[in-house]
Amino acid sequence: MTHLKPKQHYIDRYDKNTIEECRRITKRPKNQSQASKIVKNVLLYITKGERAINKDETISKWMEYDEKKDKMLKKEPKFFPTCLNCSIPMKYDIKELYEQLDSDKLHIKFFFVCPNCRSYRIFLENNKEYIPEKPKCPECNTVLLGKVTRKNNKQHKHISYCTNCNYKDSWNMTLKPTMPKVDLNLSKDRRKYCLTEKETLEYSNAKFDLEACSKLLEEHEKTKKKNNQLKNP
Ligand SMILES: [Zn+2]
Ligand SMILES: [Zn+2]
Repeated sequence: MTHLKPKQHYIDRYDKNTIEECRRITKRPKNQSQASKIVKNVLLYITKGERAINKDETISKWMEYDEKKDKMLKKEPKFFPTCLNCSIPMKYDIKELYEQLDSDKLHIKFFFVCPNCRSYRIFLENNKEYIPEKPKCPECNTVLLGKVTRKNNKQHKHISYCTNCNYKDSWNMTLKPTMPKVDLNLSKDRRKYCLTEKETLEYSNAKFDLEACSKLLEEHEKTKKKNNQLKNP
């Protein structure tokens, strides 16, 4: 499986986010004052424009990141660790991507298994060992144990419990993903909220003029203040 997809996939993803953002703005309560209607329209105008201006750059970043993932997945382990229980060489099993979303770093995990005791060790592409953090009890900090029971064809029940105190937590996991709802208004709202190239350029020019105008006003206010100070020291 490759991560990098045709450009249209990213365009659709970006447009869907734009549509959702604009829908949230237009969804506000119906009986509103004239002033809040104006605010809503201005907010919608800016959101549409800013989303359109940032579109190409965001899509390029997404594509670069997916390309990086594909490159990363081509890497192979450079050494083979020994099992900590049996001191024999371990066998290379599988690899998977490891995204550190908080630091934006992308790694790859190589999984090694011991042919004797079946225990695992995981190493990153930089040869650093990856030791997964075990969930701990929020009450007494003891490592939690867990079990999974099958509820029905669609759901599994996960239970996590502490062997030291009475702490217990459980949650259900759906096995079959539910089909996404068909969005009947998608193409209509796309025309409404996603600007064309020409409209993006128009917004960009209007923004530039507005910024220049507010700068002029600011300068004018400053001069006025200065003159007043000179007249009435
Ligand atoms: Zn072993
Ligand atoms: Zn506990």
